[in-house]
Amino acid sequence: MHRQQIDYALARRATLARMRAGEVQLKDVCDADTYLLRAAKFHGQSTDRPCPVCRKEQVTQVSWLFGSTIGGPSGTARTEPEIAVLATRSPEFTVHVVEVCRTCRWNYLIQSYVAGVPARATKRRRAAK
Ligand SMILES: [Zn+2]
Repeated sequence: MHRQQIDYALARRATLARMRAGEVQLKDVCDADTYLLRAAKFHGQSTDRPCPVCRKEQVTQVSWLFGSTIGGPSGTARTEPEIAVLATRSPEFTVHVVEVCRTCRWNYLIQSYVAGVPARATKRRRAAK
């Protein structure tokens, strides 16, 4: 159901391998800021995947919306039910799914996709703004 879905599993695995090899500093991959941690707390979806870095908790998935048509500032986190509703009535927008560990602050973009109503399916309205 997701269009233009891109999975970043390979890049994620490569980053983790480089981290374990000491080529990437922990502080460079476990650098979730308070904004992201708050988003994970309030808009995130829990998973059953243990954190690949500290293994102390399951990672939380946060979905960030990007697009000029979704209203409000682009780059806000939404829950999956909110996205499901938006997808049925909002023009196309891009979703970036980030996994976050709230213990060690590991974070990684794991997937992106396009949702919403394709432009050709909506009537073109020239709203005066
Ligand atoms: Zn962790």
